[in-house]
Amino acid sequence: MASRVRDVIDTGPRFTQGDAIRLNNLFRGNDAAEMLAAVTADRLVGEAAIVSSFGAESAVLLHLVTRVAPAMPVLFLDTGKHFPETIAYRDLLAERLKLNLVNLAPDPEEIAARDETGLRWSYDPDGCCELRKVKPLARAVAGLDATFTGRKGFQSATRTGLPRFEIDTTDAEGRLKVNPLANWTKAELDAYFEAHDLPRHPLEADGYPSIGCAPCTSKVLPGEDPRAGRWRGWDKVECGIHVPEKPGEEPAF
Ligand code: SF4
Repeated sequence: MASRVRDVIDTGPRFTQGDAIRLNNLFRGNDAAEMLAAVTADRLVGEAAIVSSFGAESAVLLHLVTRVAPAMPVLFLDTGKHFPETIAYRDLLAERLKLNLVNLAPDPEEIAARDETGLRWSYDPDGCCELRKVKPLARAVAGLDATFTGRKGFQSATRTGLPRFEIDTTDAEGRLKVNPLANWTKAELDAYFEAHDLPRHPLEADGYPSIGCAPCTSKVLPGEDPRAGRWRGWDKVECGIHVPEKPGEEPAF
């Protein structure tokens, strides 16, 4: 499989839209585990890291990827605004899965200058996300060729058709974004949790199917998209880490 991949993508540190299309076509008949085994076996996607929010369902991606690439760094945006339950869940999974965890904190000087009170989320969530998520992640991935995300197509109507491989549109470097769970259903995720005895995020059963920072996450009502509780009341569906391909499309983090 490895040589097949090398045959169809350009060599070099970064990727093109054509590479992403070819990779999507190449692995159309493979499940997530097969695809991950192939792309990590010979570093076919180059220098890579997992980006995880340690939210609901994050354990599936972390388990899948680290089974084939145990040393792969796991980037966590330690915004300073997470639920304590998320921090505890991160630590639990890090211990359980022996993760190579990398906590990404915001720049303290930037926080002091632009969010001294810690309340920027309440009047400028885009600015808060830029300080606490976008910039720290941009610094961390600067030397990487690819990131693995946990986005799923079922999470919202606007995410339907999410590809497994895409080019990161948040920068101009042609970084590859790999979404192994893009076509997974909620039932498949639940079955994976059960099959591998993975712990659940403690807030999931309390009505939070998508979990981000505490001030910007609310419970989801029956019939709503899983991500309906994120930035509720704001005309905002993403933090800037995953820029929409189409108007209204939203991200995973
Ligand atoms: S999700 Fe909310 S608290 Fe977290 S960085 Fe974005 S605006 Fe700030």
